[in-house]
Amino acid sequence: MNKAREPGVATAAAQAGNVPLVANYVAGRVVPASSPRRQAVTNPASGQVRAEVVLSNAADVDAAVAAARAAFPAWSQMAPLRRARLMNRLLALVNERKRDLAQLITAEHGKVLSDAVGEVERGIEIIEFACGIPQLLKGDYTEQVATGIDNWTMRQPLGVVAGITPFNFPVMVPAWMFPVAIASGNTFVLKPSPLDPSPSLLMAELMREAGFPDGVFNVVQGDKEAVDALLHHPDVQAVSFVGSTPVANSIYETGARHGKRVQALGGAKNHLVVMPDADIDKAVDALIGAAFGSAGERCMAISVAVLVGSAADRVMPQLEQRARELRIGSGLDEASEMGPIVTEAARQRIRAAIDAGVAAGAKLTVDGRQFQVPGHEGGFFLGATVFDHVKPEMALYREEIFGPVLACVRVDTFEQALQLINDHEFGNGVSLFTSDGGVAREFARRVQVGMVGVNVPIPVPMSWHGFGGWKRSLFGDMHAYGEEGVRFYTRQKSVMQRWPDSIGKGAEFAMPNSRSGG
Ligand code: NAD
Repeated sequence: MNKAREPGVATAAAQAGNVPLVANYVAGRVVPASSPRRQAVTNPASGQVRAEVVLSNAADVDAAVAAARAAFPAWSQMAPLRRARLMNRLLALVNERKRDLAQLITAEHGKVLSDAVGEVERGIEIIEFACGIPQLLKGDYTEQVATGIDNWTMRQPLGVVAGITPFNFPVMVPAWMFPVAIASGNTFVLKPSPLDPSPSLLMAELMREAGFPDGVFNVVQGDKEAVDALLHHPDVQAVSFVGSTPVANSIYETGARHGKRVQALGGAKNHLVVMPDADIDKAVDALIGAAFGSAGERCMAISVAVLVGSAADRVMPQLEQRARELRIGSGLDEASEMGPIVTEAARQRIRAAIDAGVAAGAKLTVDGRQFQVPGHEGGFFLGATVFDHVKPEMALYREEIFGPVLACVRVDTFEQALQLINDHEFGNGVSLFTSDGGVAREFARRVQVGMVGVNVPIPVPMSWHGFGGWKRSLFGDMHAYGEEGVRFYTRQKSVMQRWPDSIGKGAEFAMPNSRSGG
């Protein structure tokens, strides 16, 4: 890829040795961090270092929060319709630069370009949603709650809010947060993953081009040190987090202890149930795409297939064959269906999880551990991996692997399938393949999972419905984006009003109610 066409890296503040430095974006400018700590950013398809990212310290976080705080009074006072017009400009710019964003994602995350474009599209949908903010911020009004008294509610922004995001969707997950937060009148500090930080700077550039005032959107690159500084900062009112469950849990607790509103979305182990009456070809298509798309590095990836009764013997041969035939290669190669794993460390972790599955007695039917892509020997590739006869007590079943590993569990009945899912600690997404509407309805009603697909493998809700799992897949009570997102980023104020002609009736000592006031 031509370096001159990589905008996120090109706008970085400086060079770090031979590679560009990915810096912070504060008050409308790309700025170097005061922290000397750096981390290499690799291209997972080649294993080569393509940039270095700064790892910000508390002083860097403070600078970003101060910029956001300074921008808040004017931004929050701007009419929602004017804020929406700026969002509309951003929408046009992101559409124009969709491919640039996608190329940066592929260069640092590794996912295939068509998938990266799809990710940007899902982010665009949230910006489209945020363009409707005047309607979304409309309050409720009740005339004449008592004689001469009206009562209404309105929603007001919180102040400076922060987003801490994972590596696997470097554009889409930040876009779950900042368009809704900013359109609602807040100012924003984004802390992206240091594994693929460059798209955040291109988003910042587009925010500036769209005309958002300086300080409304800021980026601090970094790791735990920057996150801790955000969690302890007295001027940060709310934190949205997406990442692994142990970190989500700790962010929720620490943020709450420091008086912040927190929504923390965590890990997953998503099941896809195939009933004997399902269209088996479609179910296999769904399993292949949802288990191995983005190398299984999606929070909505399917990592467990639950094969009910006779479905198992019909699914397994097709599934194994398709997994072996998967086209794996660089994400920039249009023929690739699956790209590399994000880092060498992640590849080793996934290999270890496969080893443990074998040791525990699951039947490894497709083994991707030693897979190599000719010409890309330095890349972090793994092949698709399939296990049959996985048991619920195995770590392979219980723990999130976050890689291209599909665990197949055989059960006899629908009730057993449902029980299995409801007993699992995670509850992010789930899917059922069947041709029986009654079974589908029962499943959707009784399953203890936040997002449910019926003959749909990855049921990521549309931007106006909101995204969130149950159980240990989400800490907090508000889902991301949609109306829940607007509620998260605003607080309700209730106003009760009476005008002078009704004043002067003397003090009232009983609790005012709808019978008061004559
Ligand atoms: P991660 O938890 O390692 O990192 C997420 C963010 O937290 C990053 O910005 C990272 O720099 C920061 N971080 C990491 N360790 C930290 C620590 N100890 N203290 C403070 N901050 C820390 O997650 P990841 O590997 O980047 O992403 C993959 C995980 O995210 C998977 O578990 C996946 O299921 C989950 N995920 C969940 C959703 C969802 O909607 N539920 C969506 C996407 C990803």
